[in-house]
Amino acid sequence: MDIVILAVLIAVVALGAISGLVVSSRKKKQLPPAPPSSPSVTAPPAEPHVGEEAEPSTAQPRRTIEEVELPTAPAPAEESAPVVEPETAVEAAVPAAPEIEIPEPTAGRLVRLRARLSRSQNSLGKGLLTLLSREHLDEDTWEEIEDTLLVADVGVTPTQELVERLRERVKVLGTRTPEELRTLLREELLTLIGTEADRSVHTEPGVGVNGEEKPGVVMVVGVNGVGKTTTTGKLARVLVADGKSVVLGAADTFRAAAADQLQTWGERVGARTVRGPEAGDPASIAFDAVKEGIAENADVVLVDTAGRLHTKTGLMDELGKVKRVLEKHGSVDEVLLVLDATTGQNGLVQARVFAEVVDITGIVLTKLDGTAKGGIVVAVQRELGVPVKLVGLGEGADDLAPFEPEAFVDALIGD
Ligand code: GDP
Repeated sequence: MDIVILAVLIAVVALGAISGLVVSSRKKKQLPPAPPSSPSVTAPPAEPHVGEEAEPSTAQPRRTIEEVELPTAPAPAEESAPVVEPETAVEAAVPAAPEIEIPEPTAGRLVRLRARLSRSQNSLGKGLLTLLSREHLDEDTWEEIEDTLLVADVGVTPTQELVERLRERVKVLGTRTPEELRTLLREELLTLIGTEADRSVHTEPGVGVNGEEKPGVVMVVGVNGVGKTTTTGKLARVLVADGKSVVLGAADTFRAAAADQLQTWGERVGARTVRGPEAGDPASIAFDAVKEGIAENADVVLVDTAGRLHTKTGLMDELGKVKRVLEKHGSVDEVLLVLDATTGQNGLVQARVFAEVVDITGIVLTKLDGTAKGGIVVAVQRELGVPVKLVGLGEGADDLAPFEPEAFVDALIGD
């Protein structure tokens, strides 16, 4: 009996041991595999660069650990390649230690670029001179003069004013030598454009809200496509050429490539660009840009903004907010409206809308090189009551010139 009990006990113990082994080995099998050691599988994509991050996150399918362990899966090195690729691609897109360029001096740029105004020169300046030189200045000729001005986008009221004054002065002139006519037209065009306005871009450092020295702050606004970002970049060069240090704020988060574009402009002249995530809050980027400007002791902060005209309310909300947030640091010294000179009346409509949304202090007219409508200078100043301060005369880096009425008129009618 004792022997039987002993045998049963031994059998039970032996069975227990065997089943324990089985359980423990099952448990081992059920244990989750060690956490993946390769961060490339689970790590979030690298810090996004505007316009580039969509690719890695969509192109790279999520893989489970089982899939990674599948014997048929590609070797780890190959497998991790597509994951790290976007990161290296992003890095490669950022130019390594770019050489700092020295922009051309700004004085006399308009004189240098005067040939670019050739289309306006021929149709507006020379056209007017030819008409005024006619032997008989009859009504038809005056009408043609009027048409020439209107076609060149001078605007109805300024055109009437100019024609009236020209008629008066030509009457008392008697004989009209080409020289006299040129002088007369020069004077009248200058009166129309105005020589008294302050056309300097205000970028003087001021005092911040905490009593610290604050850089001059310039907001650049305008509808997308007019050349706003390019102009911001070119303006950075103008300022650097004038011996100032610049920080750029890439607050146009609407257009995907705008921040990259601005950063490239900045890097060329050694200006830092403050940027945020795509579709990020433009106001917070603008705020950070001035903060950076203060920290760097920069002279000027230029803030590029987005110009969506889909609704006036949307635009008002966004630009108004950017300006208010910028003012948390202190004054905004200049709000430059960028307009495309080739868009004529459309440009004037844009000007009107922007002026309702934010206080414009200066106008930048771009693409004057590609149009016969140089008269827009007069029309837009009249429309907004603020001066044209800069003109864009080409796609080259130093093709943005301070606007000088004398040089402009001389270019139109020839010396
Ligand atoms: P944004 O959308 O307003 O920021 O426009 P961009 O700055 O990207 O400029 C749009 C296009 O206009 C680019 O191809 C620029 O090179 C071009 N552009 C800007 N200013 C001028 C200019 O003064 N003359 C000419 N011909 N092209 C210009």
